[in-house]
Amino acid sequence: MSKSYDFDVITLGAGSGGLSLAERAAAYGQSCAIVEHGKIGGTCVNVGCVPKKIMWFGANLAHQMHDAGGYGFDLTIDGFDWATLVGNRERYIENINRYYHQHLADLDIVEITGTGRFVDAHTIAVGDRRYTARDIVIATGTRPGLPNVPGIEHAITSDGFFALDAQPQRVAIAGSGYIAVELAGMLGALGSDVTMFLRKRHVLGEFDSLLQSVLFEELGKCGIALRTETEITRIGLRDDARIDLEDNQGIGLDGVDQVIYAIGRYADTASLGLEQAGVEIDAHGFVVTDLYQRTTRENIFALGDVTGRAQLTPVAIAAGRRLADRLYGDRPDRHLDYEWIPTVVFSHPPVGTIGKTEEQARAEFGDRVSVYQTRFTAMYNAIGGTEVPTAMKLVCVDEEERIVGCHMIGPGVDEMLQGFAVAISMGACKRDFDDTVAIHPTSAEELVTLR
Ligand SMILES: Cc1cc2nc3c(=O)[nH]c(=O)nc-3n(C[C@H](O)[C@H](O)[C@H](O)COP(=O)(O)OP(=O)(O)OC[C@H]3O[C@@H](n4cnc5c(N)ncnc54)[C@H](O)[C@@H]3O)c2cc1C
Repeated sequence: MSKSYDFDVITLGAGSGGLSLAERAAAYGQSCAIVEHGKIGGTCVNVGCVPKKIMWFGANLAHQMHDAGGYGFDLTIDGFDWATLVGNRERYIENINRYYHQHLADLDIVEITGTGRFVDAHTIAVGDRRYTARDIVIATGTRPGLPNVPGIEHAITSDGFFALDAQPQRVAIAGSGYIAVELAGMLGALGSDVTMFLRKRHVLGEFDSLLQSVLFEELGKCGIALRTETEITRIGLRDDARIDLEDNQGIGLDGVDQVIYAIGRYADTASLGLEQAGVEIDAHGFVVTDLYQRTTRENIFALGDVTGRAQLTPVAIAAGRRLADRLYGDRPDRHLDYEWIPTVVFSHPPVGTIGKTEEQARAEFGDRVSVYQTRFTAMYNAIGGTEVPTAMKLVCVDEEERIVGCHMIGPGVDEMLQGFAVAISMGACKRDFDDTVAIHPTSAEELVTLR
């Protein structure tokens, strides 16, 4: 332990980023404390990736039971019990929480429960107590945002979705990003009647146009009502506890059980006392950092969602581990390269993407870009009788056709992308894909046989 401080390093937030930094720092012999006012594991474990993926598995089963007829099974489904799925999900999460508490104890990392706030660049206040550290790492994540609409108190966010103990039969979802389409797909597959309110005419606005169009079409085919170029303008709670909505097109929607907003997340940095420590935030409230996770104060670092960059769990973890390697592991240039970050959207069907969209590549490289794409119905779906599309696109640059983007949608692409991401981030060209012997019969082989 440092002589003049209580700890070598204090981490604010015990989510993906804070935990990874503290674990790695402790492994290098640093004395660590971690401050958390919620549940250990943060967003990913408690109200993000983990519960979301479990609901997605449940929704996939619903699709598979539908497909079973094509494979000769005559299934009688006697219902779906939301409480069983949610109960098993929460038990799974409690096990992860328990594991983390024990893990921190094993590593001698001190857990401090409460809301942390800077007093100065080396001091954090939690309630009446003050703790000092040589280094402080801000890993406080983000929170779901809500718009300023009359009646908004009757709406929920993804956090509220994971707290539902009964399945909502009729649901309105506002938003078009990955969380909105994931929630819509799950609820739809599990039997809820879902209406999406989209501000524009697409979903997944940041993604390649192929993914946007195929997913938009598929959401509609799955029975999800898509209201485009619209915004909810008023939310009214009725005496029967149902909700009526008005929108800016004057159409509205009556009698829904839940209104879920998934319109983006914000960093609640205003409450951290950053000005006491000389740490700057940007116009959106994200902590300003460089590639080495340094803030504007030399002993204070920030990582994960609170920095506003690639808001994903593996990104927060990688940034935390690399920062600890650099600060305490004698690896002075160790940092996370934010260029090649693969992402999966657990929609139905899932989406996998890495690198530049075709639109971004054309804007940057003009006619040096070549594109290969395909669309087909996977063998499994052809027999199952549900025409779920699979579509894939490779975006290449220059004569050597270096792959700068890979975009896929279809059953199985969620598990397919990781291996391709290794090759692409190592600089693979189209001919490397062509020279790879295909695995047959799979959907993945289509990506190495594109013409
Ligand atoms: C619905 C949903 C689904 C998602 N799905 C995926 C997915 O499939 N794959 C993926 O990679 N990512 C997914 N994400 C994103 C992922 O959860 C985040 O990128 C990740 O959790 C970021 O980690 P973090 O450490 O930066 O922040 P967080 O995990 O949010 O942790 C921050 C922690 O800080 C605590 N905290 C905040 N302020 C204070 C304070 N002042 N004092 C003490 N504690 C404080 C919070 O309580 C929280 O526990 C999803 C997110 C959501 C919301």
